[in-house]
Amino acid sequence: MIAAVLCAAGRGTRAGFAENKVLREYNGLPVLCYSLAAFSPYADEMIVACVPEEEARIARLLAPYPNARTVAGGSTRSESVYNALRAAKADIVLIHDAARPFLSHRIIEACIACVKQYGSGVCALPLSDTVAEVLDGNIVDVPPREQFVAVQTPQGFYRAKLLGALERARADGRTFTDESGVYAAYAEPPRLFLGERANKKLTYPEDFAPAERAGFGVDTHAFREDGDHIMLCGVKIPSAHGLKAHSDGDVALHALMDALLSAAGMRDIGYFFPDTDERFSGADSMELLHEVVKRIESEGLGVRNVSISIVAERPRLAPYIADMKARVAEALGIAERCVGIAAGTNEKLGYVGEGKGITCFATAMLGSQISF
Ligand code: MG
Repeated sequence: MIAAVLCAAGRGTRAGFAENKVLREYNGLPVLCYSLAAFSPYADEMIVACVPEEEARIARLLAPYPNARTVAGGSTRSESVYNALRAAKADIVLIHDAARPFLSHRIIEACIACVKQYGSGVCALPLSDTVAEVLDGNIVDVPPREQFVAVQTPQGFYRAKLLGALERARADGRTFTDESGVYAAYAEPPRLFLGERANKKLTYPEDFAPAERAGFGVDTHAFREDGDHIMLCGVKIPSAHGLKAHSDGDVALHALMDALLSAAGMRDIGYFFPDTDERFSGADSMELLHEVVKRIESEGLGVRNVSISIVAERPRLAPYIADMKARVAEALGIAERCVGIAAGTNEKLGYVGEGKGITCFATAMLGSQISF
């Protein structure tokens, strides 16, 4: 039998968070949920060590897993693990930092195999940085880094043997940062297996940045008989015909706004700025774009880059592309090199080719906005 022990009783003090970081969301899901999902196919029981004030909140996250339960965490990590081991029934225990949500199935399988073959299995990575011994702000020694590894979790052991080591450490009043240290001091040198760079511990605010999110938008406006200009990306372009629209008809910004809203998982511009609403009659699309940016920023998201493609048989757009880029970059608060604008004709094919209207496509990439 295998038990997964998840250490979730820590505080996010290094990250400067008011709440426990394993309850913070990463890409819309509490960090703890990722480890639960990863261990679920392998563990006969899952035990989460947590502080009493968070027990009810954590218990709700365990609801999908009938074999998962909480135990009271201690004031130190060793105490939390000790309590979990006493509550566990399985003979093999895999101890894991709940703040490492990206552990792979490969790692879990390697950990179990290592315990079965060698009696223990500690996830570790060779160092790529140089390690130095420091005294009062000065380096006093640089040992060969081949002698060192960066220790991750999971760390697997036979429960009885680790429990014995923890009891002896308790009796000696010694504390360790993780179980590999206790096991090395009171049982035997634990066996290493190769970890993964992706299996990092979420520690600092930037570690919680959600994965990037892509969005796509498209819009078409028909030419009308009258008019003397069109608006594209906030730039006024002379044209023998204007575009039919409730707003200023900036078809490129409309596609862009839909791409931004779509990337944020929000409804489209027709929902936020309906053309049945008189407030948006003749609206400046740049102002609407500012409103959209505010909405996505309120979700903790920021714009990484955007790409706009304009398909128009007329007028000639090449002389205006640089101005368009500058206006869009300014509105989004990003560098001009993060705004791509392409313009082309439709080779006289279809409604665009016949000069009946303009179609624009846009994509947007969003990422987290980090605020301290
Ligand atoms: Mg439109």
